[in-house]
Parts: sequence; C-alpha cells; structure tokens
Amino acid sequence: MGETGSLPVLSTAERVPEGYGQWPDKVRVTEIFFSIQGESSAMGMPCAMVRLTGCNLRCSWCDTEYSFKGGQFMTSANILEALQKYPTRRVELTGGEPLLQKGTPQLAQALLDAGYTVLIETSGERDISVLPTGVRRIMDLKAPGSGESHRNRWENLEHLTTTDELKFVLKDRADFDWMVQTVEKHQLEAKVPLLVSPVYQVLHPSLLAEWLLASGLDARLNIQMHKTIWGEEPGR
Ligand code: SF4
Repeated sequence: MGETGSLPVLSTAERVPEGYGQWPDKVRVTEIFFSIQGESSAMGMPCAMVRLTGCNLRCSWCDTEYSFKGGQFMTSANILEALQKYPTRRVELTGGEPLLQKGTPQLAQALLDAGYTVLIETSGERDISVLPTGVRRIMDLKAPGSGESHRNRWENLEHLTTTDELKFVLKDRADFDWMVQTVEKHQLEAKVPLLVSPVYQVLHPSLLAEWLLASGLDARLNIQMHKTIWGEEPGR
C-alpha cells in the first residue's frame, strides 16, 4: 500500500461517478484478473478478482486509487463470461467499494448460482445485509490512522457471523490499541474471525506480530501475500 499524499477533499456525491446505481443489472468494473488471494482466510489460494469502480472513502494508506474512476459497465453475464478463462471456482468482489453499486448483490447471487465461492471485500461503510446468503463478507473496521474511522457503520457488526471475516488495517500502535479496545467492547472475538494487517511499508509486520502475540488476541495476521510476490503492480 502506498501513501497517498494529500488527496482533495470531496463530498460523497463527488466521489461516486455519475450513473452509479441506475442500472441494477450492471456494475462498473475497473479490472478482472486472476491472482493469489493475498489476505483473509483464503490467503495463498488462487482467486479470480473482480474490481469494481469507485469509492466514497479516502483512506490515508489506500493502494487502489486507480479504481476510483473510469471502468466499464458490465452485466453479470459479461462478468461470468470473462471469468470462464480462469481455472478457478473462487471469486472475490473488491474495489474501490463494491457495495456502492446497486447491481452488486445481483452479481453476487449470479456468481453463487454459477457455483462460485464468493468473497467480497468492503470498507464497512455500506449496509452489508443487502448481500445474498452464502457470500463470505470480509469487512473492514477503519482504524483512526486511516482517517476514515468516523465512517464505520457500527450496525454492520450485528450482521456479521462466523462465516464472515472482520479486518483491521493498522498503521501504528495507536491503531492497534484501538483495535483491541474495539474487539473487547463489541465482544467480536467469539462472533467473527478477525484479520489484522499492517499498512504496507509503514508498519513492519514483525512489530505487529509482537503486539498481537503479547495481546493474546485470537486474530489472523495478514501480510498481503500478493505484494510480497508482485509488489504494488496493479492487476495482481
Ligand atoms: S475503502 Fe478501500 S478503496 Fe476506498 S479509500 Fe479506503 S482503502 Fe481505498
């Protein structure tokens, strides 16, 4: 993940390109590619990735700014066709923020119906209950270091189950302490598998590993395997 420097402050409306949500049978797609799942419980597994365009947040450490604009509209049928060339039945919807688009639940259902294991990565700012049963929801809670923790939709915690995953991307010790307090306050350890990731090239994984072990928290340390393999190359 790269530091973004100073991004312009935009309203939510300005951050969502015109036309979003007007065609529920279509979504705007930045890229579709085949890679190694770099995070979550599927880390290390082959996975087709469908990156949807646009995000209404601006995390300080965002590594996918190239997905904020552009893209092309695709139907579920177009996407299923594009996925056929990849030898996998695992697919992840990511972004940007996939839940900004009204067509995403419909797309997720089409992928489930086609026999895919469907993962989705979401910032946690949108309502995750719109997704069909069977989708593995990998939801962020934004720590203060992201600059977007005020956007966390806390009601989403009620929807998470043991078949989902809750991810914290941490920049420093203050973020880590915030995470521990948040997990305790909402009793999250028993509710949903926890993932913890260091911001790439900002917080060293060995430091986070030491904090995690000392805390006794039962969380999975992620180190973004795809970046270990390919660096920050888009489409990987
Ligand atoms: S939610 Fe994800 S895509 Fe959006 S700004 Fe944050 S890191 Fe980037």
